[in-house]
Amino acid sequence: MQHFPIFMAVKGRRIVVAGGGETALAKLRLLLKTEARLTVIAPAPEAEVERLAAEGRVMLLRRAFEPGDALCAVLAYAATDGDAEDARVARLARADGALVNIVDNLEDSAFITPAIVDRDPVVVAIGTEGAAPVLARAIKADLEARLPSSLGFLTRIGKTFRHAAERLPFGRKRREFWADYYDRVGPQAFAKGGEEAVAPALARLLADHLEEAPKKGHVDFVGSGPGDPDLLTVRARRALDRADVVIHDRLVTPAILDLARREALIIDAGKEGFGASTPQAEIDAMLVRHAKKGRHVVRLKAGDPTVFGRLDEEIEAVEAAGISFAIVPGITAASAAVAAIGQSLTKRGRNASVRLLTGHDVKGFADHDWKALARPGEVAAIYMGKKAARFVQGRLLMHGCPPETPVTVVENASRADQRILSTTVAEMEPAMTEAALDGPALTFIGLAPRAAQAAVRTFAQEAIP
Ligand code: SAH
Repeated sequence: MQHFPIFMAVKGRRIVVAGGGETALAKLRLLLKTEARLTVIAPAPEAEVERLAAEGRVMLLRRAFEPGDALCAVLAYAATDGDAEDARVARLARADGALVNIVDNLEDSAFITPAIVDRDPVVVAIGTEGAAPVLARAIKADLEARLPSSLGFLTRIGKTFRHAAERLPFGRKRREFWADYYDRVGPQAFAKGGEEAVAPALARLLADHLEEAPKKGHVDFVGSGPGDPDLLTVRARRALDRADVVIHDRLVTPAILDLARREALIIDAGKEGFGASTPQAEIDAMLVRHAKKGRHVVRLKAGDPTVFGRLDEEIEAVEAAGISFAIVPGITAASAAVAAIGQSLTKRGRNASVRLLTGHDVKGFADHDWKALARPGEVAAIYMGKKAARFVQGRLLMHGCPPETPVTVVENASRADQRILSTTVAEMEPAMTEAALDGPALTFIGLAPRAAQAAVRTFAQEAIP
């Protein structure tokens, strides 16, 4: 980050704009949203600048910028539409102690003005360090559409209740009250009865929340999907937004953990391939301990929590302690991996069923109905299958599986470092060992990347020698 975003106190302070043309006006339109005192310095200002001056909204000096013009100003904009004049203004304003922005000159500016979404007092600033103004505009348009225009009003009313809301205990109860207001009660009251309806609705909501008995803890078992945050469900995001404690697996990516509520306690309960670095019993106890303190615990598991996630053991512990729980499904690795190779898990006329297998279980390499798996057309998705590859290959060949049956390995499905290895049962070993897979990998038996997906193929061949 070459520019650090901050919100600057400008109420009652002076901001100077040198220039009276369109460039200066564009900045003025933004600056007029603030409570700063604005001074415009321009020898021949446009009519609109004159009008703003006549309305008393800016102070206008009809001359060129002079030494001392930016004394006591917090910010100065050089927006004269002339490079040499902008440079002169910048030099003088800097000498006066102001932070200077030269319009369209990132290099020589001490600060840049972001694109702004204004729901005062909620303000979103979007910056791309000058790299992609088009993108900033697109993000702005997206947020403009998404943030209701009533948001500013709701926030201003909310602010007047902050003191009253302190009667609710700090933490989850108070947070839930505010979430209830901004997500539901506030927008509904505004839609139904306009501005007047909001404050009474908020007062009623506060009374309701004050009457409520203290809440018990709760555990959400949440699937984090294969790694790309875009593949989280809306419900998973909401749970992360509200979590007091997040207990996550090793495979959950940092980009997803970044989405957790800022104040949430994040605990890594990561387990390594074989064996556990945090024993299961300890994880079970941890869930119960945190939930019993009345906290909202999110147990975050890679993919879908119900697929090879040791979910039942954790649910039993939580249930035994009388704690409520819910399961939030996620996109399992097989779904993400099959999407990456442009195929379907099931296909009319090819396979009417698909098996999700684990390469190993508590006893070592896992045994399966190899005979059924070896039949042509069968499709299986093997989880945790890297170490078991030779064992799987041996069993399949032993049970008559055609050696040319396709095998596709998708490593780091959905992530930036995704790799695809396309091979066959005959060659899956040593191909998989040679590929030195070090991320999580899913192995498909009976599926090849879609032939037409040349790009995928080329990528696979490039990535894996
Ligand atoms: N609950 C998870 C699976 C946990 S078992 C799910 O539904 O996906 C862990 C195994 O999942 C890994 O060994 C690997 O086989 C697979 N896996 C998880 N994330 C993956 C990813 N992004 N790409 C490929 N395989 C993945």
